[in-house]
Amino acid sequence: MKVLKFGGSSVKNAERIQQVCAILKPYQTANEQFVVVFSAFGGVTDLLLGMGTLAAKADQSYLESIEQFKIRHYPVIDELLNGEYKITAQTFINERTIEVENILKGIFLLREGTKRAFDYLASFGERCSSFIITQYLNQTGNSVSYLDARQVIRTNDNYGAATVNSKVTTQQIEAYFKANEGNFIITGFISSTEKGSTTTLGRGGSDYTAAIFGACLKASVIEIWTDVDGVMTADPRKVKDAFTIPQMTYAEAMEMSHFGAKVIYPPTIAPAMEMDIPLSIRNTYNTAFKGTFISNETVETDAVLSGVTSISKIVLLTLQGSGMFGVSGTAARMFDALAKAEVNIIVITQGSSEHSITCAISPEDKEKAEKAIAAAFDYELKRGYIDPLIIEDNLSTIAVIGEKMRSRPGIAAQLFTALSQNGINVVAIAQGSSELNISLIIASKDEKKALNAIHERFFYADTNVIHLFFVGVGLIGSSLLSQIQKQAAYLKEQKNIDLRVVGLANTKTMLFNQEGINLANWKNDLADSSEASDLDGFIENMILMNLRNSIFVDNTASATPVDYYEQILTNSISISTPNKIATSSSYKQYRYFKQLADTNNVQFQYETNVGAGLPVISTLKGLVDSGDKVLKIEGVLSGSLSFIFNNFTPESSFYDIVLQAQKLGYTEPDPRIDLSGKDVRRKILILAREAGVSLEAEDVDIENILPQPCIDAQTIDAFFSALKANEQDFVDRITKASAAGKRLRFIAALDHGVATISLQEVDSSNPFYNLSGSDNMIVFTTERYKERPLVVRGPGAGAEVTAAGVFAEIIQIATFLA
Ligand code: ASP
Ligand code: MG
Repeated sequence: MKVLKFGGSSVKNAERIQQVCAILKPYQTANEQFVVVFSAFGGVTDLLLGMGTLAAKADQSYLESIEQFKIRHYPVIDELLNGEYKITAQTFINERTIEVENILKGIFLLREGTKRAFDYLASFGERCSSFIITQYLNQTGNSVSYLDARQVIRTNDNYGAATVNSKVTTQQIEAYFKANEGNFIITGFISSTEKGSTTTLGRGGSDYTAAIFGACLKASVIEIWTDVDGVMTADPRKVKDAFTIPQMTYAEAMEMSHFGAKVIYPPTIAPAMEMDIPLSIRNTYNTAFKGTFISNETVETDAVLSGVTSISKIVLLTLQGSGMFGVSGTAARMFDALAKAEVNIIVITQGSSEHSITCAISPEDKEKAEKAIAAAFDYELKRGYIDPLIIEDNLSTIAVIGEKMRSRPGIAAQLFTALSQNGINVVAIAQGSSELNISLIIASKDEKKALNAIHERFFYADTNVIHLFFVGVGLIGSSLLSQIQKQAAYLKEQKNIDLRVVGLANTKTMLFNQEGINLANWKNDLADSSEASDLDGFIENMILMNLRNSIFVDNTASATPVDYYEQILTNSISISTPNKIATSSSYKQYRYFKQLADTNNVQFQYETNVGAGLPVISTLKGLVDSGDKVLKIEGVLSGSLSFIFNNFTPESSFYDIVLQAQKLGYTEPDPRIDLSGKDVRRKILILAREAGVSLEAEDVDIENILPQPCIDAQTIDAFFSALKANEQDFVDRITKASAAGKRLRFIAALDHGVATISLQEVDSSNPFYNLSGSDNMIVFTTERYKERPLVVRGPGAGAEVTAAGVFAEIIQIATFLA
């Protein structure tokens, strides 16, 4: 014997009903006995209750809804039935419709709809659907009988969600099936009291009806046919990667369904579990799929969790006060008061200090709860033994569920790491001693992010989605985007890092796509975007999107994005940037951003601020962190100055070389920015700070190499003319150096805490002597590298290498977040 149940969406129209018949066919052919429980046609219960509500408000328009009620049933009869089956069904529906009209009229006249009247009204949905389907099955050669469950399911008179009297119900079902043979079509959801008045088992109660019959008839399985692929690891509307849980235990299913996984009506599980009858959740839209199988067996898989669910809106009540410590019975009184007020408690926690008790309830119970507690603790409140109830709104509960958590340590740690790295604050925690469920209360705005972060951590331990927000798509930015595009597949397959650029902005427009902007076409998509660029809006949206593992990449050289760093880091978004402004402005700001990143458990990285893609800062960090002592740092830190002085010989013209460097794009448009040493100053400042020296820009002593007329020139052209007229200085210096077998190098140094930048003559024993092209070179002399210093050398400028440096940094941050 099998029990099947089809929900409202599985029987919402003629076509779906035909599909149900097809599902039942094999049972019929195999001559296997079955009973099938049906819900009302999709939406009919709501329609009936809606009519009742209108009538109770003396609103005439309930009459229009009666038309709707007819429209939901007659066309189905017309489409599916003919001959005597059609007439039988029509007669039944005619009679029922008249009854519905009469009840509504009564409610309308009395202007009052009792819970009892509403249950009676609701019963017509299941009675009509089941009756029509019975006719159709008989017409198609399946011999089945209609059974109105009110005949056998006995409940108390708690209308709206009545409690089943199992003993009487079991006796009646057993007796009925002894006396009647064959297969049955049974109305879900409805039942009756001893006195014969109609009750219902609660919204969604048809599942429960199926379980009651399954248990009483000792069915081999209870199949619940619905419109989704079973119970999923998370709500697929909130977590895109959610998948069906193939097998789970009754206890897990119970927890999942209580905590918002709306696939089965929670009371359904108990009768099945008691009689150890498996439940199978199937999809009428995907009949080949096996769905979820629920039994008492735990399956051997690597997954510790079966799922993560949430209740989106809850209210947290906290009762606290000095008068609670050591006084027994406070909790009991609080919960007793709530129970009497019919407030359902979702989660409870109490700190061991006994100073406070916290519980979560649903928002619609808020006022009731508040009143009940105020009344119960009136005495203590008046005397100040207990503080007024603290009520917190806009919170959600997340429940992490799995039998296997019981035996494994470290689950909670993993859970909290996933949350803290994403800046999600946990307001309260509860873990039942069964260790089957850890419940967390967090802000509603973080719910989706938390679900995704947890789901990814436990179910896709190997993939980590990283969300990237880019501002600036100039040379560096666009090189970076094309590097990411080329490497994305490799990173996903080999490193399990799924990089998604989800926000992009240049000075004109901006673009967002939570699933990832198509990097093959970003230029057009960004140009076509209707959103005008606005950094304020960009940051606001980034924070609002609230995506886990987010990194902000500032590819600009502008001060404006830096104004937002504080906000970005505070919102637990990491930063990676080649922009030197944040790290080379005041020391205070530099420290602040670093601390902010630490306290928010995110990263603030800027490797490319010195030496572009060369590993300069990370090398220095490595030395310092491992306890080495930095004695001296010397460097040729500017690609442009390197190019200029590496090519300058007594035979050449300094003017020509500077002009050439500018034309090749090695210098800033105005080469004085390089020649003045200002850019180099930023870099030595950053290195000094990384080495632990708190320098400010004015502490760096720069040797000015530019003749006064060059400094005074108003335009770039004027500067070049001035340089041409005044290049003798430079020629003299190079000639003198050359005669002594030396070369000129523009060197920044930090020597025992003192920073200088100067044009120096170096001989062949000096590491900078052989520098060529536009290479950077940094020489670290430390306690460990004293005799032979540690040297980092290579191309220190250029969009490709800088972008590659930022890219490497993004991957490093991704690894930290994973
Ligand atoms: N028809 C009822 C409801 O909509 C019962 C059910 O569908 O399970 O709640
Ligand atoms: Mg339903």
